Amino acid sequence: MATATKKPRKRRKVTQAMKDRDTASRTAAREVLHAYATACLANPAALEQFRSIAASIGWKYDPASDDDGYSLQNAMLLAAQRRPLIHCGGFDYWLSQGRCVAEGEKSLFTFRHIGRKKTEEERAEEKKLAEEGWQSSKRGPRYYVKKGTFDVAQTVPRERCPHCGTTPASPEDRTTQCPPDCAVFAPQPGGKPPRELVLELMQAQLIDADADEDGEE
Ligand SMILES: [Zn+2]
Repeated sequence: MATATKKPRKRRKVTQAMKDRDTASRTAAREVLHAYATACLANPAALEQFRSIAASIGWKYDPASDDDGYSLQNAMLLAAQRRPLIHCGGFDYWLSQGRCVAEGEKSLFTFRHIGRKKTEEERAEEKKLAEEGWQSSKRGPRYYVKKGTFDVAQTVPRERCPHCGTTPASPEDRTTQCPPDCAVFAPQPGGKPPRELVLELMQAQLIDADADEDGEE
């Protein structure tokens, strides 16, 4: 996984419509996750595929750490939206890799926890959200859903591919793709998450979803 340098965010006013949209995004994400966890728990092959995906896109034990990699929950949320996955990153990350998002591709979303990281930037974000009323209630959301992640298969070379030599026809060309055997599509080296840990997290998705339905939010 990879993140490009973050740009400073513009301050925005949060309207009720935006809050409703964010609530809808969280609900949709939880439903996708719930369905995927249910499918993986019922099918050992699906569960193994998830472990391979997590190994390739990069995962980390501690969601709050600054290490590269996705939390296991985010790896699961990404896999719930698209399979297989090989190598994920944001729009700017792919530009930094000499690739761009292919025409017509829709981004995947991940959870962003509010106030989990203790970096300067995260603290500022938390403060900003608090000022905007996010945490005015004790039961306010602890996370939001953010779009903007793409798998390498959703990107095309923006300049000559260093692996296979595929070159876009013009700077505007966003459709010329590398051949399927290009090394850019090879799984990334990485350890699979332990089976027990994956099972535990998937079972937790089912419980969390039930708790939310009981009005946790
Ligand atoms: Zn290539």
